[in-house]
Amino acid sequence: MTDPRLADLAARSPGLRLLTEPADLVHYGRDWTRRWTPAPIAIALPSSVAEVQDVVRWANDHRIALVPSGGRTGLSGGAVAAHGELVLSLERMHRVLGFSPAGRLLAVQAGITLQAAQEAARAHGLIYPVDFAARGSCTIGGNVATNAGGIRVIRYGNTRDWIAGLTVVTGEGELIELNRGLVKNSSGYDLRQLMIGSEGTLGVVVGALLELTDPPPPAQVMLLALPDIDAVLAVFALFRRRLSLQAFEFFTDVALAHVLAHGAQRALAGEYPCYVVTEFDAADEAAQQAALAAFEEGAAQGWIIDGVIAQSQAQAEALWRLREGITESLAPHKPYKNDVAVRIDAVPAFLGEIQALLAREYPQFEVVWFGHIGDGNLHINILKPAAMDDAAFIAECERVTVLLAAVLEKHGGSISAEHGIGLVKRPYLESTRSAAEIALMCGIKRVFDPQRLLNPGKLFPVD
Ligand SMILES: Cc1cc2nc3c(=O)[nH]c(=O)nc-3n(C[C@H](O)[C@H](O)[C@H](O)COP(=O)(O)OP(=O)(O)OC[C@H]3O[C@@H](n4cnc5c(N)ncnc54)[C@H](O)[C@@H]3O)c2cc1C
Repeated sequence: MTDPRLADLAARSPGLRLLTEPADLVHYGRDWTRRWTPAPIAIALPSSVAEVQDVVRWANDHRIALVPSGGRTGLSGGAVAAHGELVLSLERMHRVLGFSPAGRLLAVQAGITLQAAQEAARAHGLIYPVDFAARGSCTIGGNVATNAGGIRVIRYGNTRDWIAGLTVVTGEGELIELNRGLVKNSSGYDLRQLMIGSEGTLGVVVGALLELTDPPPPAQVMLLALPDIDAVLAVFALFRRRLSLQAFEFFTDVALAHVLAHGAQRALAGEYPCYVVTEFDAADEAAQQAALAAFEEGAAQGWIIDGVIAQSQAQAEALWRLREGITESLAPHKPYKNDVAVRIDAVPAFLGEIQALLAREYPQFEVVWFGHIGDGNLHINILKPAAMDDAAFIAECERVTVLLAAVLEKHGGSISAEHGIGLVKRPYLESTRSAAEIALMCGIKRVFDPQRLLNPGKLFPVD
């Protein structure tokens, strides 16, 4: 270690793994955004809570910023280290620590992947229901820090709803146990919930108590083809009334074209403007008949043009791939991502306005729509034309985001539904949060992290 500060860290915490090779700095210094050039001072890979505390205390003594890091699948730049920060990766802390059958609680270290946590739950005959395509790489720590949503929010809610306790190292290196798995706990502020969605700015999550639940009844997966987004909303209302939905995900023909080009299999012969992948409880004949009846009613109304029901697990997975493969298929096009949400009842009016806005402002760009429409959450991805310079493209997109943020503000929506504010949406936080709220958030940050060393520059417009 040539840097004396790193040598001091190595001396203080002899078991701590530290990486400084250029390839490691790049690998750990960026997330899926790929917009910023990684430039961390080093990567720390603790294997225990004590080592995490060593790192945080060292950072305070040397006033070095820290970037808590999970799977770096984030889409908002939250885990980016571009200014000499130390990346604090939890990847070596990936163990299941215990299971409480009576409480149905799974204790995990924060660096465990979502998929490994899901598999551990299944081994006990239960499920951890938060789920989305990055499951194999994203971590529970990152999910907590972003309050991750995903494809089953209409049935199960967000990460926030499944965290019964958190173990956190604060910005000064203090270890706190939040809620400890209690179902009832009216003893003051719920700091566990405050930590969820705090994007690594208040503390480093080192462990979590995940609440588990019964597996859902057997389900069926259906792909629907629809003429427009109004029909998507009409079919959602119809299906929600008639069926017990586990998921209802929408995407456009443009999104489908990208997934197919990326290797997914076409499921319907024709080509249509909009598609929905929906999954619903279908334990018995009656539930399956209800699904067919709902499909026929949607078709009779002209809302559904075509569709297919998966006849096997492999077909169900193939249909899901059409939706879940979208983010990956768009990545080579360096998309500018908007991850917005409005209340469900505001979706039709909001959609009308932003469709008009984007058609007017982005005639030159390919715009890909998809999302969790049942949660009021739309992903609007603007693809960079190959010949266009990165900076010019982002500047153009940001000009339009200002307009989009104003429409969201009018409808009481959020500039970030589930990806977090990070760096990408930092200039637009005021469109979703009032000045009073932001001032309170900054005050809370000062309490947890007096030297402002945890993920500085993320989330807040001014840190
Ligand atoms: C293909 C794909 C599909 C996706 N689909 C969805 C989706 O449907 N729904 C959804 O919500 N997101 C989705 N995402 C985004 C992403 O997977 C989530 O934001 C996820 O929660 C990030 O987890 P991570 O471990 O990769 O976190 P990272 O990207 O490493 O970090 C994200 C943020 O959390 C902080 N952080 C990480 N670990 C800790 C910790 N231990 N303590 C404190 N702070 C920490 C970081 O500093 C950063 O601010 C998708 C991403 C991809 C690539």
